[in-house]
Amino acid sequence: MQVLVFATNNAHKAHEVELVLGSGYQIKTLKDIGCLEDIEETENTLEGNALLKARYVKEKYGYDCFSEDAGLEVAALDGAPGVHTARYAGPSRDANDNMDLLLRNLDGHSDRSAQFRAVIALIQGDKEILLEGVCKGQISLQKQGTEGFGYDPIFIPEGYEQTFAQLGDEVKTEISHRAKATRKLVEVLTMDDGR
Ligand code: IMP
Repeated sequence: MQVLVFATNNAHKAHEVELVLGSGYQIKTLKDIGCLEDIEETENTLEGNALLKARYVKEKYGYDCFSEDAGLEVAALDGAPGVHTARYAGPSRDANDNMDLLLRNLDGHSDRSAQFRAVIALIQGDKEILLEGVCKGQISLQKQGTEGFGYDPIFIPEGYEQTFAQLGDEVKTEISHRAKATRKLVEVLTMDDGR
């Protein structure tokens, strides 16, 4: 079993990544390596913030690791909230406030198309690799469902009529932005160790 350090303290993200990785890998999160500080995301792109988190762990703790930064990009809002997805409604990062604001800002727009984008930054020795996963869909008219986290109650992935929060882990593991980026991560890792 290969141990991977995932530079996150988001238990939902760790769980979703673990479901895609399967039993051949064990994940250690920031808490598990004794990193209890909040790594501030100060860059203005998902790529920049993903690299910032992975580099922080490599430099301060010495571990090869990967990190992931994700954002929701809404076409009618010119790609917002994008890199500001977590703090869209303010610094408290409250998921309900964020969703309420997004629904208000989309009021009256007929185009509700959106995409989730996840960027994984992998650091192995002095090598840095960026991997992307995109999941296209629509913003629903109201919040529905209780599974998942963040904006899941208002995101209807392409090909479905329910939100991620109604569809749950099984569908997210197949088609989510994070699942797609994680499968690319597995490709890189298996290429490296000749599996
Ligand atoms: P970060 O990658 O932790 O900075 O997350 C950015 C924002 O996107 C947060 O508000 C998350 O809740 C939200 N987010 C990231 N991934 C997902 C997802 O898979 N479903 C719903 N919301 C997500």
